[in-house]
Amino acid sequence: MMVCLFKGTNSEEPAGKISVINAMRGTTGSLKYFTINSNFAYLLDGMTPTVKEILEKELFTTGNLVKLLSAGDEDTKLIFSTSAAIKKQYTGEKVFFRGLIELSNICSKNCYYCGIRRGNRNPERYLVTEPEVLEAARYALDNGFGSMVMQSGERFDKRYIGYVESLLRKIKAMSAGKLGITLSMGEQTEETYRRWFEAGAHRYLLRIETSNRELYYKIHPRDARHDYDFRLQSLELLRKTGYNVGSGVMIGLPFQTLEDLAGDLQFFKNYDIDMAGMGPYIEHVDTPLYKFKDQLLPKEKRLELSLKMVALLRIIMKDVNIAATTAMQTIDKNGREKALRVGANIIMPNLTPLRYREGYLLYQNKPGISEQIEDSMKNLERQIHNAGCLVGYGEWGDSKHFAKRQTQIQ
Ligand code: SF4
Repeated sequence: MMVCLFKGTNSEEPAGKISVINAMRGTTGSLKYFTINSNFAYLLDGMTPTVKEILEKELFTTGNLVKLLSAGDEDTKLIFSTSAAIKKQYTGEKVFFRGLIELSNICSKNCYYCGIRRGNRNPERYLVTEPEVLEAARYALDNGFGSMVMQSGERFDKRYIGYVESLLRKIKAMSAGKLGITLSMGEQTEETYRRWFEAGAHRYLLRIETSNRELYYKIHPRDARHDYDFRLQSLELLRKTGYNVGSGVMIGLPFQTLEDLAGDLQFFKNYDIDMAGMGPYIEHVDTPLYKFKDQLLPKEKRLELSLKMVALLRIIMKDVNIAATTAMQTIDKNGREKALRVGANIIMPNLTPLRYREGYLLYQNKPGISEQIEDSMKNLERQIHNAGCLVGYGEWGDSKHFAKRQTQIQ
């Protein structure tokens, strides 16, 4: 298969079906046109295997994945029915809750896409107090959540590291070890990862955001604090410490191509991740990346691509945990339900006290800012049942992929 990527602005070809010279074969071919943003276009050789033929393979090339990501409506239905069947077979019908606490919006980093980046002076910075965290943990326990997630900006100060460690120990003691705990607090030292692990955290999510190094430096400052290689090393340190390791990417970023997304899927496979959190990129007005907003795919297309990414990850990594993320719900109120249908099996109801939620707008129009947890739980349960799934009440719902790897090691 030949895949060409070129600047649409340099092309005189019309949108739709176009013909170009297939330079690899020296023949003229009729090619399909697909665009991921206004600057780029993909040409896909019509002579390649069909989507059905690709889905029957064990291993997918980048070209295969690009073809699946660019599939039209009928082929997409086939992709989604395949991923749904794999989900049912390998992870079952259960969806697991992770009660989310957005512990602090104080961050030492300046990612170009993020609403709580250090350089944005608008959000009021906060730290959720210990009694509030313990109250949320109690709510999670009493309502049959198997787990919690504590998420925050990246902070390295000793006081914060000690605070997180102490919270972990108190949540574990309060729940008699029943609540599983995931952390998502960015890059830390090996010692910090170990301290938090020993205090009771056993899953850690560190999103790479994009696996393409060049794109990484288009959406992050190029400096020591935003080092692509260090992020990769951090994933390895987390694995070495003993965590279930998760990563994730944004979908529909400016400058991003379908090959980048295919590369992201291969990255997850190569890093043998246990869990993933992926979602559509949603622009925030107070960020440097906002100036590229006119080059983005429409939001509905970003959601569509995100659903395809969920489905394809389920197909290539059958037993990992995949979150139906809030960003999907931002675009479509049924976005999470759709993600559950095509392969996701984790949901993170927000337990952050309402008074802090305005302060944790990583992107704009984030839902649930003023919604009491009781209201959002009713919605969630309805969405989960609509998607043909059950809630795994009281269970940690760890990644089966992690468990399998542990068995192989022993
Ligand atoms: S994405 Fe994470 S690390 Fe980057 S600025 Fe936002 S909170 Fe900080």
